[in-house]
Amino acid sequence: MLARLGIYNISDMLFCYPRRHEDRSRIRPISEVKAAGVETIEAAVTATGLLRSRRGQSMLKVRISDGTGRMNIVFFNQPYLKNYLKKGVRAVFYGRVDNFKGLQMNNPEFEIMGEEEHDSVHTGRIVPVYPLTAGLGQRWLRNLIYGVIEDYSAYLKETLPTSIRARNKLLGYGDAVKNMHFPKSEYMMKESRRRLVFDEFVFMQLFIGLKRHHIRENSPGVKHSVKEDFVSSFLGSMPFELTKGQRKAMAEVSKDMASSKPMARLLQGDVGSGKTAVAAYAMALSAHNGMQAALMAPTEILADQHFITISQFLSPMGFRIELLTGGVKDKESVCEKISSGEADMIVGTHALIADTVRFKNLGLAVVDEEHKFGVIQREALLSKVPKRPDMLIMTATPIPRTLALTIYGEFDISTLSDMPKGKRSVITYWFDPSRRSEIYDFVKARLKEGKQAFIISPLIDSAKRADISGAENIYSRLKNDIFSGYAIKLLHGKMPKGAQDAAMKAFRDKEADLLVATTIVEVGIDVPNATIMVIDHAERFGLAQLHQLRGRIGRSAGESYCILISDAESNSAGERLGSMIASQDGFYISEKDMEIRGPGRLFGVRQHGFGELKLADLTNDLEILKKARDEAFRIVGSDPGLDKEEHRNIRSAMDRRFRYGHEGGGAG
Ligand code: ADP
Ligand code: MG
Repeated sequence: MLARLGIYNISDMLFCYPRRHEDRSRIRPISEVKAAGVETIEAAVTATGLLRSRRGQSMLKVRISDGTGRMNIVFFNQPYLKNYLKKGVRAVFYGRVDNFKGLQMNNPEFEIMGEEEHDSVHTGRIVPVYPLTAGLGQRWLRNLIYGVIEDYSAYLKETLPTSIRARNKLLGYGDAVKNMHFPKSEYMMKESRRRLVFDEFVFMQLFIGLKRHHIRENSPGVKHSVKEDFVSSFLGSMPFELTKGQRKAMAEVSKDMASSKPMARLLQGDVGSGKTAVAAYAMALSAHNGMQAALMAPTEILADQHFITISQFLSPMGFRIELLTGGVKDKESVCEKISSGEADMIVGTHALIADTVRFKNLGLAVVDEEHKFGVIQREALLSKVPKRPDMLIMTATPIPRTLALTIYGEFDISTLSDMPKGKRSVITYWFDPSRRSEIYDFVKARLKEGKQAFIISPLIDSAKRADISGAENIYSRLKNDIFSGYAIKLLHGKMPKGAQDAAMKAFRDKEADLLVATTIVEVGIDVPNATIMVIDHAERFGLAQLHQLRGRIGRSAGESYCILISDAESNSAGERLGSMIASQDGFYISEKDMEIRGPGRLFGVRQHGFGELKLADLTNDLEILKKARDEAFRIVGSDPGLDKEEHRNIRSAMDRRFRYGHEGGGAG
């Protein structure tokens, strides 16, 4: 049962932090107790009686007195307690007091005083409340952890140098862990948490800082030269005038790529902000210098689309561009062109990191939609070549500043904050499912104007959840009934690859009016004539996901409409849908998302190699994060090898955390 909580050894137990604490430290005299409050009372048992309720439950009645007054305690279905709570026994009771022919507590937590050697564990103090699993009682686990803390917390080694502790007024590590479980006071509870949050952030930032240092200082990079006439010929070959933001990002990329240190840059911008053009610029710059450039996208559809766009932008400049995805027929000849250097640029999926792919001289790696890949694939692409190529990561999810500092801390960041001209806003509505037929009428009217529409469902079919219509069900219903005169296509991830491509292609080429799909269309698909999106069961989607989906429309002049269908009853679902209506600004949306969902889940923090944040909260602990980051970067600046005597603690704690992928901080 402990394993279900992730506890396998003593160390796990030390770091199984409580979910919350309850302050049971204020013992109230019975004379001051009022009904309808949660109280802690210390009193002696004066009488007990075992009764049966009318419904056949056993009822143990315990009469207590503390000298200031008397009251009743009742335990249901726990007759054996009469063996413990005998007349004359002193105990501390914690629970809710109600008025039931006089003051009464039902099924309180209690602890008998005077018989055990240690301090009180469950009452009369600030008490930890642990996460539980079926069959495991709070009291049992609390006792167990109490014993472990008593016996082992003294062995915890300090993880931080004295100077950092002094500067930031931090408790000792062992003390903090101990008080994180069983705090002596409210002050100690706050301070122990602050200390441990600081710890988590320092190590995370050290990890990032050292990585950043390693990338920039230790790996030989590729030096690209940037010539004026190249830049103007690039600008000349583009079918549109670039935005201010795009030109600024280009300048930042140029500067990085011209340096012999490897570029590690994150390009972030809302959906539709035009990141591809910036990527194309970087790729052209690399190829112009006689180096190869690769662009890796998370899905085939997206890779295909990038291939088309990049070819359109850059073929006029004379570059040879190849596509490499699972669906490409003659992979061998493409690989041949990559290794011979005949290909200047390669666009593809993770097929690019297959062993069979050998680059002749990779100068730049562009990775689109980063969080779909994670570090492992990214590093795999980079490790394919002797010189570390420049790297540009594109992310369509705008990242709140806090997260950018943490998760993407090793990157420099370029942000596209303006939108290309002519981009129209999307009008967003939220309707109850009862208005579905009106919604379909509205869609029909737009289709009659020659527009196209997406219909999105959270599931592929309705097999698992009969209350939710999956894409397949919606598809057949619309096709056979409401939209029988129209061309409809279905698109989801379980369809054969060829059928997916055909559906997508039909929609892109206006052969289909409607595309019924799952979130597979979330990334990248660019069909400007599609100006309506209906999202069914909108409450089932995350906010960032809704925003990404909505980003598929509003790609042309004229009005676009996003219609959320939901009878959302939960508060958080309501908040998400409300945020969608309130704003189209990806940064606003992702800040909201982080507030509603908590940041950990947003970007799969776990994947990023520094373990999970157990206590730290990226939304509320920003001040601690900044201080921890300063300390971590100070260390990286002065002692990147962690060789100094004063950094020995840090070094061994880093080893434990990251080499062995274990969270047990300083367990000795
Ligand atoms: P993102 O990947 O950032 O979501 P894209 O690069 O796909 O955005 O660009 C979205 C759309 O805007 C594309 O159709 C693209 O051709 C167009 N676009 C990009 N930059 C400009 C610009 N400066 N002026 C006009 N249209 C642009
Ligand atoms: Mg894109």
